[in-house]
Amino acid sequence: MQLNNQTYQIQGVDVLDIADEFGLPLYVYDADKIIEKIGLLRSSFAGVNLKIKYAAKALTNVSILKLMRQQGVEMDSVSVNEARMGMLAGFSPSQIMFTPSGVSFGEIREAIELGLQLNVDSLPLLEWVGQNYGSQVPVSIRINPHISEGGNIKISTGHADSKFGISILQRADMLAIVDQYQISVAGLHIHTGSDFKNANAFLKGADVLFDLASDYPNLTFIDFGSGFKVSYKEGDHITDVAELGRQVSAAFQNFCQQYGRELELWFEPGKFLVSESGHLLVKTNIVKENPTRTFVAVDSGLNHLIRPMMYDSYHDIKNISNPAGSTKTYNVVGYICETDTFATDRPLPEVRPGDVLSFENAGAYGFSMSSNYNARFRPAEVLVYEGKPYLIRQRETFEDLLRGQVDVDIFSEELRVMSEE
Ligand SMILES: *Cc1c(COP(=O)(O)O)cnc(C)c1O
Repeated sequence: MQLNNQTYQIQGVDVLDIADEFGLPLYVYDADKIIEKIGLLRSSFAGVNLKIKYAAKALTNVSILKLMRQQGVEMDSVSVNEARMGMLAGFSPSQIMFTPSGVSFGEIREAIELGLQLNVDSLPLLEWVGQNYGSQVPVSIRINPHISEGGNIKISTGHADSKFGISILQRADMLAIVDQYQISVAGLHIHTGSDFKNANAFLKGADVLFDLASDYPNLTFIDFGSGFKVSYKEGDHITDVAELGRQVSAAFQNFCQQYGRELELWFEPGKFLVSESGHLLVKTNIVKENPTRTFVAVDSGLNHLIRPMMYDSYHDIKNISNPAGSTKTYNVVGYICETDTFATDRPLPEVRPGDVLSFENAGAYGFSMSSNYNARFRPAEVLVYEGKPYLIRQRETFEDLLRGQVDVDIFSEELRVMSEE
């Protein structure tokens, strides 16, 4: 989103025009930003056989998945339903990694029958695959490397007490099960969580996998998961992807030489690819001056963007309709009957009732974590592609709120007669 002649634009389209055309609240995604991030990742890892598997849970709209596919990116899924959406977008099942965490064997069976690439997250699951499929289903194994590197504890997944992956301390047990059932191990995987600032965490994780790889001679890929830190505001310390690319590529090439074969290097970025592309546009309902604070209440809340309340995430806010207003300080809050604070003591160009605000970095874990709490509609979604905005999800209607509810006749006739009188 760029400020040109006092109007905010996405690919040259005035954001206020998009708001007028599609209504508010609205999620708007900039395809160029996604394409730029894919390009940045590719150029940073130019020296290795890189595969990007978009972590679809970040933003699961089928049009976004199609954009990824059109850009040569493949997919990572955490549920069979996500994988099915990927298949609707045109991915072949073999292009979709399935990384379950504690899901039922029934769902694993479905995934295998669909032909997804299974990533095994526990010893019981490894054993189950061996018992049921022997060497027939090539798997990758998700390792918990016991690394703790910064980031919010709620999104950190690689430390010793995390529920994710098979502990590296259980290396011998892993190998015993693989040997017993002759399981075909095609890949090793780590995903140590989000928000790493430098290459260190990746390199430490890489060392764990490179060492473990000597147990598995038939690997075709090593998957480093994700954890790239993205920019939320100017001056943010973010993952230097070019530097990461140099360091991890060098370590990887070295490893491949020792291993005796060129392997594929996989990443599964979610946030990195889509966070900055997304903007949640909202309208200001009320500006309320209390003795100590001025509140801006908008027509959105934790039902549309829960990250500030759940992870204390920071989202830059732009006053789209009054960018030149004089700066004042606000608490920006939602309309839900909870304390759904988007921002505290935030300096913004003066906000007036009716002003359109944009929450930035809303592409990842925005819509995909939204709900109908307080019986409110989820926003529509628009994708701007080659200078044109396209509606990619309709705004919900009252019928959507009732869909699936069964109005059972469980109350007695007398009661109903009484209440009608
Ligand atoms: C969520 C997830 C990702 C993506 O993480 P980001 O921080 O959004 O990049 C990658 N891999 C797996 C297995 C995940 O669960």
